[in-house]
Amino acid sequence: MRSTAFQRLLESMDKLSMAQIERLGDALKAARSRRAGLEVLEKARPVACRRCGSLRVVRNGHRGELQRYLCRDCGKTSNATTDTPLARLRRRETFEAYARCLAKGFTVRQAAKACSVSVSTAHRWRLRFLEKVVEHQPKALSGLLEVDETYFRISHKGSRSLKRPPRHRGGEGAGRGRKASEWAPVLVGRLRGQRYTTDKLLTRVTAAEVTRALRDVVRRGQTVVCTDGGSAFLNLEKDLGVPAKSLVVGYDGHVMDGVYHVQSANSYHERLKSWVNRQLRGVATKNLPLYLAWMRLRAWGAGGVEPRDILTSALGKQVINL
Ligand SMILES: [Zn+2]
Repeated sequence: MRSTAFQRLLESMDKLSMAQIERLGDALKAARSRRAGLEVLEKARPVACRRCGSLRVVRNGHRGELQRYLCRDCGKTSNATTDTPLARLRRRETFEAYARCLAKGFTVRQAAKACSVSVSTAHRWRLRFLEKVVEHQPKALSGLLEVDETYFRISHKGSRSLKRPPRHRGGEGAGRGRKASEWAPVLVGRLRGQRYTTDKLLTRVTAAEVTRALRDVVRRGQTVVCTDGGSAFLNLEKDLGVPAKSLVVGYDGHVMDGVYHVQSANSYHERLKSWVNRQLRGVATKNLPLYLAWMRLRAWGAGGVEPRDILTSALGKQVINL
């Protein structure tokens, strides 16, 4: 707004009735939240051109409510969400509020209510916001890496072609599904005493899959891997080229040999499973990597992850596990 027009707006305040002041107050509050959300998005924008990576980008008007940029090298225009999972989504001014819901681990219904969007929009946004975070894994860690697997019941939630009779959603049921084919293994690695987490949905817990999942996470001479000594972990030392210790549990259940345990990985499993199975009432197995990423994102912030960091991550820039 031009400064003269703004000046006139300020001067007109004296002429407002009480009812008008109330209405204006509400409008200001709404405008404030809109702007804050868009500003977070603008700040998370990468400095380079989304299309060709050139740094020679200049401001070039607005598209929707976002700043548009013109690349001097490739001549294409882009904005903060171009070529990201958040491109072409409507209601961008609500993204910041939605990131807050993700930070809190809200269900779709809770998020839809908090952001005044439909349940289907809240669900679509969840998948889009977390898409890039799946790749935001730690690399070349230094320290004691606790590695252990856990299992989630295979779920076809949301699938249109169910090949078996429908079942109650979520949770583990007593006596049901003891077959390995009904469970999806998830490998989790936690760096002892720090907030680094790696996770991977496996097809089977084999030495080859475990090695593939951990190869970039460990670093020769820097990482010591700790496991429970399961068969898939037996050759880790040779396969990864780092020391691998397995815990020894005495008959009384106490960990022998002091530091080599996987308790921090196991407590992470418990938090992950209780949130996914109870609060979120189970998730489709094909989407499980997104939920692992979501948990990893939430676990990164000591006092809760910042909405700003969630938005930046959603745009594809890694801010966790660095
Ligand atoms: Zn360009």
